Amino acid sequence: MFFFFVGGLEQQARRVLKSGAGRCVACGSRADLVDYDKVLKVFFVPVWRWPGKAPLMHCGNCNLFFPPSASLPPPPPRMKAEPHVLRCGSCDRAVDPEFSFCPFCGAAL
Ligand SMILES: [Zn+2]
Ligand SMILES: [Zn+2]
Repeated sequence: MFFFFVGGLEQQARRVLKSGAGRCVACGSRADLVDYDKVLKVFFVPVWRWPGKAPLMHCGNCNLFFPPSASLPPPPPRMKAEPHVLRCGSCDRAVDPEFSFCPFCGAAL
């Protein structure tokens, strides 16, 4: 049998579905959600091409394809800190609202 085979399977972005939909798992730069084709190449010549099943993320920076679920989530919006903070009327320090007395100065809350 003759097993030597120069070629391989490549993925090529066909169409951008959503630009900047995520971030590259390898380099962290912006990645696009794309429709892609699988391309079978033999001796560097494409001989067969068929569409991929599901859209993939594609990084234009390092030319990497990866599933959307592996994409790094965008940074979460910063929550305003301390939504339920009670301040002591005497020393103005943040105190747990369940306390009846300020643990810092002992004043009644
Ligand atoms: Zn990348
Ligand atoms: Zn206090």
